[in-house]
Amino acid sequence: MPPPLVDPFARAISYLRVSVTDRCDFRCTYCMTEHMTFLPKAELLSLEELDRLCSAFVRMGVQKLRITGGEPLVRKGILTFFEAMGRHLQSGALKELTLTTNGSQLRRYAADLAAVGVRRVNVSLDTLDAAKFAEVTRWGRLGQVLDGIAAAKEAGLAVKINAVALKGVNDDELFTLAEWCARDGHDLTFIEVMPMGDMGEVQRLDQYWSLKDLRTRLESRYTLRDLADRTGGPARYVRLLETGQRIGFITPLTHNFCESCNRVRLTCTGELYMCLGQEDMADLRAPLRASPEDVLVEQAIRNAIARKPKGHDFDYSRQKIAGQMTRHMSHTGG
Ligand code: SAM
Ligand code: SF4
Repeated sequence: MPPPLVDPFARAISYLRVSVTDRCDFRCTYCMTEHMTFLPKAELLSLEELDRLCSAFVRMGVQKLRITGGEPLVRKGILTFFEAMGRHLQSGALKELTLTTNGSQLRRYAADLAAVGVRRVNVSLDTLDAAKFAEVTRWGRLGQVLDGIAAAKEAGLAVKINAVALKGVNDDELFTLAEWCARDGHDLTFIEVMPMGDMGEVQRLDQYWSLKDLRTRLESRYTLRDLADRTGGPARYVRLLETGQRIGFITPLTHNFCESCNRVRLTCTGELYMCLGQEDMADLRAPLRASPEDVLVEQAIRNAIARKPKGHDFDYSRQKIAGQMTRHMSHTGG
């Protein structure tokens, strides 16, 4: 067994997020422009190449794999890839295989995902209002996503809802969202909007609704108990005593939790980002293609982890955006 992956700040890297495509069937306003330019298909790693890279990470100690995108379920043949990753669950090397999806294709895929060993899915859903949903996602239909969530539940998958906190969009739906999730048994996590991809400073700051404010609003109706639950990620959790449900907060802007970061991100072209909020990345495609053996790939992964930075530099506190990234969230998958 190769030694585990540990970064310069003594953080063990046990979680890999893989963006299998930068394409998407939605065009969420905070994520993409309407006329987004996508990568030429020829640049993408094949599913077999993604398998080789993910398998190298699993050998090196990654225990949790999250498939994301763009929209992961629009990549052709994606089920084959999930099936291939299922073998690492069966061997016990991988503890969890999961995905983040906009939910549009879940009716088609939920049962098959459950069959290969997926147990939980994160579904992004910012609003329960059909008209607002159409506005935020530009191309999405709420009914299709709700049906996808129902399909996931029917297949026995636990569903966690991720909602980006958006001023003027879902700030009037906080209680509706929380109550809907409580009734249907979904965990719910709110996310602060990050400066990924240039959407214009005014628009981004106008969208931003701090989770500090959101939490205060939640406290006006519910009793919140802080939980010690940690997933090695940026989320911090509370329980609403009145409903019993768990609510998470991902607060890159109001509270930075980088010190416990355990993850890295692989893109569909083989770039490895060691931090969501920094531009530095390592190319794994060249070493992958240079040799059928994985020695070069493993070395490249180790060299990359040795450069994992301490954290991001996102900051809106001076009514200006600091830490802006040129790439969009769909590049690395959030
Ligand atoms: N298409 C899938 C989905 O929407 O769940 C997976 C990829 S999407 C990029 C992953 C997550 O990133 C979603 O929950 C989305 O809401 C979130 N996201 C996108 N752009 C964001 C931004 N600028 N700030 C914060 N979250 C963002
Ligand atoms: Fe697509 Fe997800 Fe980005 Fe929305 S957030 S445009 S669904 S990748």
